[in-house]
Amino acid sequence: ERARGLEQRTARYEEGGDEHHLRELRIIRDLQGALDQQDLYMVYQPQVDFQSVRLTQVEALLRWEHPELGFINPEDFIRLAESSGQIHELTAYILRQIEQDMRDWYAEWGQRLGMSINLSALDLTHAGLPELVDRVFADWPRPLNQLVFEITESAVLTDVRTATRTLEALRKRGARLSVDDFGTGYSSLAQLRRLPVQELKIDKSFILALDSEPEDQLMVRSIIDMAHGLNLVVVAEGIENETTWQMLQDWHCEMAQGFYLGRPMPMRQLRSWHQNFQTRAAGLQPRSASTD
Ligand code: C2E
Ligand code: MG
Ligand code: MG
Ligand code: MG
Repeated sequence: ERARGLEQRTARYEEGGDEHHLRELRIIRDLQGALDQQDLYMVYQPQVDFQSVRLTQVEALLRWEHPELGFINPEDFIRLAESSGQIHELTAYILRQIEQDMRDWYAEWGQRLGMSINLSALDLTHAGLPELVDRVFADWPRPLNQLVFEITESAVLTDVRTATRTLEALRKRGARLSVDDFGTGYSSLAQLRRLPVQELKIDKSFILALDSEPEDQLMVRSIIDMAHGLNLVVVAEGIENETTWQMLQDWHCEMAQGFYLGRPMPMRQLRSWHQNFQTRAAGLQPRSASTD
């Protein structure tokens, strides 16, 4: 499968022959080495509860600093890993790294940390994912309710039946499910209602300029209302300033993620981030007379 992916890429390069394809080919070729040498690493971005202003969970995000190409966008190399057949190996690698970091966190803090993990489309349609989770988290107490899996609607739509089966198997293990990038693509709430999900993440494209764009404000308020109507917890990503934080808190959004709160960071930095954040938290409390 992987060899065929490489062949297709090579063929495309020889036809098109441009720099872009050469770069893609290089990324695919070097990915295996990066996996073997552990050049890929995870960073974690805080997710904060709007009401209690506390850290509730983190999102795991993949990073690759290529020695020559520099920093490569995870969306790019994940897409390439999917097309070259390397995605399952990559997913297994990601899960093992995360488990190790969760173990370290627990050893130091004695407290479990909620962990949000991005899945790719092929993870959902590949039958082995729940068993992989079982193997990687074999030592962890059941249910695995500190895990959250983030999926996109387009990923589910590629094969609704298989994807639903995978999602249900993850649910059975106690994990929660979140719809990522909501509002982009062909999001339909009708579709969402049929999926066994508990959480909805509003895409950052609606949040980044929320403080100055009335149209985004309208969209976000209605997404929050509809999500609450479906009993879903709402997470907003891409919060970059205090006004945006304030607005979403007033609108009863449940969880916040964004550079205003914290950037993605290695697990070992999370502790000092947390200490600093605790001193900041007093200024971020909900206004006492809740306005609408
Ligand atoms: P995503 O899952 O929607 O992740 C959120 C992205 O928004 C992250 O980009 C994060 O750094 C960025 N972000 C968070 N807060 C802010 C903010 O306030 N302002 C701005 N401008 N950006 C913010 P990142 O890390 O580059 O990841 C991009 C995408 O790559 C992710 O989007 C996800 O689709 C994919 N990805 C990353 N790691 C993994 C992984 O381990 N597995 C899979 N399958 N996909 C991953
Ligand atoms: Mg995500
Ligand atoms: Mg997202
Ligand atoms: Mg995204």
